[in-house]
Amino acid sequence: AAAAPEPVAAPAAVLPYQDASLPVPDRVTDLLSRMTLDDKLGQMTQIEKDALVPQSDLAAYRIGSVLSGGDSTVSPNNAQTWADTYDSLQRTALTTPLGIPMIYGIDAVHGHNAVRGATLFPHNIGLGATRDPALVQRIGRAVAEEVSGTGIDWDFAPCLCVARDDRWGRTYESYGETPELPSALTTFITGLQGDTLGAGSAPVLATAKHYLGDGGTAGGVDQGDTRLSEADLRAVHLPPFREAVRRGVGAVMLSYSSWNGVRSHANKYLVTDVLKGELGFSGFVVSDWAAVDQLDGQSGFTGAEITTAVNAGVDMVMVPHDYRKFLTLLRGEVTAGRIPQSRIDDANRRILTRKFQLGLFEKPFTDRSYTATVGSAAHRELARQAVRASQVLLKNEGGVLPLPKSAKLFVAGKSADDIGNQSGGWTVGWQGRSGPVTDGTTVLQGIRAAVTDPSRVTYDRYGNGIDSSYRAAVAVVGETPYAEGRGDRPDGLGLDQEDLGTLARLKASGVPVVVVLVSGRPLDIAAQLPDWQALLAAWLPGTEGAGVSDVLFGDHAPTGKLPVSWPRTSAQEPVNDGDGKDPLFPYGYGLTYSAAGPAPTPAPGACTARFRTASSWQGGYQAEVTVENTGSAALTGWAVDWDLGGSRVTSLWNGALSTADSRATVRNAAFNGSLPPGGTTSFGFTADGTAGTPGLHCAGT
Ligand code: BGC
Repeated sequence: AAAAPEPVAAPAAVLPYQDASLPVPDRVTDLLSRMTLDDKLGQMTQIEKDALVPQSDLAAYRIGSVLSGGDSTVSPNNAQTWADTYDSLQRTALTTPLGIPMIYGIDAVHGHNAVRGATLFPHNIGLGATRDPALVQRIGRAVAEEVSGTGIDWDFAPCLCVARDDRWGRTYESYGETPELPSALTTFITGLQGDTLGAGSAPVLATAKHYLGDGGTAGGVDQGDTRLSEADLRAVHLPPFREAVRRGVGAVMLSYSSWNGVRSHANKYLVTDVLKGELGFSGFVVSDWAAVDQLDGQSGFTGAEITTAVNAGVDMVMVPHDYRKFLTLLRGEVTAGRIPQSRIDDANRRILTRKFQLGLFEKPFTDRSYTATVGSAAHRELARQAVRASQVLLKNEGGVLPLPKSAKLFVAGKSADDIGNQSGGWTVGWQGRSGPVTDGTTVLQGIRAAVTDPSRVTYDRYGNGIDSSYRAAVAVVGETPYAEGRGDRPDGLGLDQEDLGTLARLKASGVPVVVVLVSGRPLDIAAQLPDWQALLAAWLPGTEGAGVSDVLFGDHAPTGKLPVSWPRTSAQEPVNDGDGKDPLFPYGYGLTYSAAGPAPTPAPGACTARFRTASSWQGGYQAEVTVENTGSAALTGWAVDWDLGGSRVTSLWNGALSTADSRATVRNAAFNGSLPPGGTTSFGFTADGTAGTPGLHCAGT
């Protein structure tokens, strides 16, 4: 007779929501059926890490999410400690009966900027100048790796604001002033999340922010009022969000601002009807920091504010401090029937779906294999590449640039040797600050590393000691760090007294002056521009200052194009593409060395071209281009090539078309004619295709 089978231990019961082989919707349904009301309300609650006292409150209050605001830190501030902090919080979160992992969000808006030593990329305005969706996607991937290396699952980026008035303190968080530019650079989302959330390695949930119209406020006032018709709001500010939703963005953060007097956090039409309904957004909506408790104009939560926001469609409230009061009030609103249970369930379904998709239930702790990517050589090289591509050459008289590497050079300016200034706000602290806030290469260090003999480079911050023996003076000047409303400049954007003094000293020497402007936006420089032989807009390049020297010395020719119009004075604001105003430099402007060259007499004709899409983004578009002769001689032959998916690299959308847009219809058109100096001509072009961005190549002959 066969022996009796050995008794086997019964497998540990796996509940359906814990079973990774089941489809996510089934897991969510199962989990929801097991949750108490308090479990659900906790999922909708996001707390600042430092407000969680004691840490056990995370489990006691069933909190679903933790964040680090701009000033949150760990000590010592390094990737290891961040990862340890994350894991400790997650361990606490998992002690609840259902063991639902928390999701941790942070503002990694130009790299993992809270972490000292992380790679910091150019702020968005610089990335806008690259006009390179593929590059921005690679940056998103690098950021995801660094963020994952500290355990963190969720990034409050990208900011898809369409910045319409440079006096706004968040202009540098914008990819540009037209809806097309932020729309095209939503590739950052794909970089963070992967093509399908959770399918690839180190996925980080992306956040499209701030919905809607944050960049359109009257006077460029942060958290102000955007006064536009619905048609204009939709035409200017909605397209990037439509594109983000199409890319499967995980979360959307609402804007502090109002639209025609109605706060975004109270706008059920925009949040529920348009975003979730019309655009089909299936992720979750998070409030901005303490935005719900400000709805009545005063700080401190009321039940009415919570009801207004949640019923408008807010799924998770960034509390961020007083979670006990918030949860008590929220519970009261639900039990009184003012917030329907169905709304609570919908919010939970959205949040939990993203947690499951991210793989948090299976892998709740830090994947330490990514910790070493924080500030890695490979990421710094990518950032340096981005810095090069973001430089916009605005003036180059007599071909003073590129500088010869053997020349005797004088370097000056408050931002020549300052990592803090070149990184801007949101750098190891909300506001950022001048000085050695993190690790990296300053512009001066980049210059010294590039020249043949560093002893021929003299540096004095204020320009003292310059004399006529130098070939050129490089002045690195501009803005010092700020963030959000503290950067609002209703009175204008002039250079400060220190910069004006430094520049005056350099000019007095008679040496050609090359100005590298480190700033989050165009500054008022029209009055000083005639004194300078060259002007290079470096934006806020981040930690890799060598990317600026790469361009100064011509190892890489500048290719950046203005992502915003450059006004003649702040009094001209708002100035935007196509508005008929006459800016100092138009949107899309940017010179390169091959066009300027060492100036022969007469200088050749040279052309710049600008395009804008006129009709809708998807399902076909119409493009219009303006070509301008910026040289001093007639252009007797010139051509514009449309490249909608060919393998050729175009001048405007650097190399991004070949793979992503391979479905686009390829049509080329070339035009020949004669164009006098200063002359402009424009024409339209219609293409059908479901993806892609019209690119163009403009060459003077
Ligand atoms: C900003 C958001 C940011 C949040 C969390 C707010 O002040 O407006 O952009 O994500 O803080 O730090």
